[in-house]
Amino acid sequence: MAGPGLPRYRGRFAPSPTGPLHFGSLVAAVGSWADARAHRGDWLVRMEDLDPPRESPGAADEILRVLAALGLEWDEPVSYQSARVQAYGAALASLHRRGAVFACACTRKEIADSAIGGPDGSLVYPGTCRDGLPPGRAARATRVRVASVTMEFEDAVQGHVRQDLARDVGDFVLVRADALFAYQLAVVVDDAAQGITDVVRGADLLDSTPRQIFLQQLLDLPTPRYLHLPVATNAHGEKLSKQTLAEPVDPSRGAEALLGALRFLGQAPPAALSGTSARDVLGWAAAHWDRGRIPRQRAVAAPD
Ligand SMILES: [Zn+2]
Repeated sequence: MAGPGLPRYRGRFAPSPTGPLHFGSLVAAVGSWADARAHRGDWLVRMEDLDPPRESPGAADEILRVLAALGLEWDEPVSYQSARVQAYGAALASLHRRGAVFACACTRKEIADSAIGGPDGSLVYPGTCRDGLPPGRAARATRVRVASVTMEFEDAVQGHVRQDLARDVGDFVLVRADALFAYQLAVVVDDAAQGITDVVRGADLLDSTPRQIFLQQLLDLPTPRYLHLPVATNAHGEKLSKQTLAEPVDPSRGAEALLGALRFLGQAPPAALSGTSARDVLGWAAAHWDRGRIPRQRAVAAPD
């Protein structure tokens, strides 16, 4: 709700171009779009194309084509992370100057051999290279030094979230062994550069949010508000993705696709909207979007 003195709402949809838009990514697109429109805010699209080995040629253009065909229109030119490497480098340099990062020589296997498991089965970095590389070893990755701090935030759907960053995550990677910038750094730099006030995205990223807030604080960047939507899964409980063979959204059945995403998000579009146009469905969504109806689960099975 923009009011005097408050910055205008700015939200974004940030897909990775790993394949065509499927129901799971449509849910994130519709949720972030409707929340932005309901707040009379801006909605931006950012391609998270920082990981060429995982990307599929033409996927970014195809995602944009389907969004446009559905009437999910973005307000500013699409931003591409692949074109933002200098900005990530500048943020990293600033962390270097503050002594907040260190070079790490450890291989995945070495970390697995000496790490303490995190609560979700992930590996917590054991701190091997924190005070300097072991003799004779070369740097592979760059990690940020994580203070012993409990990060807390209020999520608009998931409620109060807290994470003991040192215990549950440890010093995390900002530049990977393949020299690519890590998602956590890129997303923080981009959200700030684009003036994002409200991040609406899938709850698969809920556990990343404390890391991102930690980086925002280190870099003196503002922390946006967060709203994490349930993630769509298949009948086996796996997140919909190209790997789990999720079907692409068919823009010729745009109204039905949008209605499915809205119902998944707990909204109650009238049955009379079936058989209308995507534009009609989006008009209804912008006028009737209700955050209070979004299911609080972190994962929900997608409809057949
Ligand atoms: Zn190390």
